Amino acid sequence: MAKKKRIVIALGGNALGNTLPEQMTAVKITARAIVDLIEEGCEVVVAHGNGPQVGMVNNAMIALTHEDPQQPNTPLSVCVAMSQAYIGYDLQNALREELLDRNITDIPVATMITQVRVDENDEAFQNPSKPIGRFMTKEQADEMAAKYDYIMKEDSGRGYRRVVSSPKPQEIIEIGTIRTMVESGDLVIACGGGGIPVTRQGNHLKGASAVIDKDFASSLLARELDADFLIILTAVEKVAINYGKPDEKWLDNITVDEAKQYMAEGHFAPGSMLPKVQAAVEFAESAPGRHALITLLEKAKDGILGDTGTRISRS
Ligand code: ADP
Ligand code: MG
Repeated sequence: MAKKKRIVIALGGNALGNTLPEQMTAVKITARAIVDLIEEGCEVVVAHGNGPQVGMVNNAMIALTHEDPQQPNTPLSVCVAMSQAYIGYDLQNALREELLDRNITDIPVATMITQVRVDENDEAFQNPSKPIGRFMTKEQADEMAAKYDYIMKEDSGRGYRRVVSSPKPQEIIEIGTIRTMVESGDLVIACGGGGIPVTRQGNHLKGASAVIDKDFASSLLARELDADFLIILTAVEKVAINYGKPDEKWLDNITVDEAKQYMAEGHFAPGSMLPKVQAAVEFAESAPGRHALITLLEKAKDGILGDTGTRISRS
């Protein structure tokens, strides 16, 4: 029997929704798309983002400190851990049910709480750029800044939000366990929310105040697991050059060199499409035979069959 294709899937915001009920509904659709790939004969590993969820957990923990002065402020790394467990719970529950509904009874589903090491000298720590949580007035923002040392920034005319650092992932601490689970045929959810950011202090891993980009963490996970495919599922079916302009062109198959050229020409928005293309390039160029695909959640199967999406390959 041919070796199964190993696929790391990175789920974006639209695969999970923004609120508890939205997530509960969204994961059912997401589970269908993932199990479709398993039925195609692929071995799947799931990673996901946590933008809205980590903001929500962070706000809930702030409310707790308001209610109970005995409770100190919750570190962001702990909020990421909470978001991993919350999203992992919904995903593994939905995946289990979808597998059983299709009479697939031999694939256990589990979420791995994952720590990801970042470099404490990463320049992202000097330049927090990732907005999380709810929008606030200037007065509320000033109060938060004074009380918790948060960095608050105005976000495109919509109000103020907390911004956090987003350093690059260097090492997946639990990779050995993840690999063992994947090798034994489990459907694993790992590196949720980009992983819990930690820095190494001797034997101690210290939580860092940051949120790692899930696109970069997924790319590292895919390289570490020697995957054949990295699939980044998002809100667009394909990547475009001249995006949103009259001469917009949707891309089907591009090489790593072409992707680099388009990045240099500024075709991809920082904070949304740029990290995806960067993560795709990092994976595709890391070894022969590795391909990255960026497409819509509901097009994942068509994409893997070569019918849609933007595919990035070494040559
Ligand atoms: P996710 O939650 O999946 O990470 P993002 O909102 O961060 O989603 O990124 C996907 C978005 O990137 C798309 O919805 C699209 O609006 C935007 N985008 C920016 N530049 C491009 C481009 N060149 N081609 C396609 N989409 C782009
Ligand atoms: Mg994103």
